[in-house]
Amino acid sequence: MSLHVTSRVLLASLGDVSPEHGSLRLYGDPTGVERPVLEAIRPLHENDCDCDDADEYGDCTRFELRSATVERFKIVRLGGRLGAGYFVACEYQPDWPMHVSQYVPFFGDVESMRDVANSAGVGDDELIDALCSENPVERAEAYRNLIGYHGWANFDEYPIELTAAEVTARLAHDKKASA
Ligand SMILES: [Zn+2]
Repeated sequence: MSLHVTSRVLLASLGDVSPEHGSLRLYGDPTGVERPVLEAIRPLHENDCDCDDADEYGDCTRFELRSATVERFKIVRLGGRLGAGYFVACEYQPDWPMHVSQYVPFFGDVESMRDVANSAGVGDDELIDALCSENPVERAEAYRNLIGYHGWANFDEYPIELTAAEVTARLAHDKKASA
């Protein structure tokens, strides 16, 4: 994650406004250099927690933060592959060293989007179009469906633990993008 907390701008809130219920926020780089980042903050433990950070009512004050860079994709069709084509990051160029199939993301090729779309209750074309959109908010909504299907651990296997005070301080930097 290369967007710094103090310089990034909040582009959209896609989850609950409160981390207690699972916040999901999309941040952008005002200079446009770094790619947008989707960040989820949610309680680390269930209710009725008895860890050292839970209060006398079992309300736990530990949170976990996971983040994913929101890529933009495109479909590359090669001669001989008449079907859906390869689904790759939009930076892909034909002169990249490996075969285009090697650049397909872990969550799969175009056909794999059908299962994700089905489980999210959206059309597969709609999901693919959103992942190829120049609008980062549309891509982030598609990422939410990908994460819902594959699980956060596949996008960020090293969550950061935060205290409630750290969460509050972090979110205090959020400011709406106005320009
Ligand atoms: Zn706990």
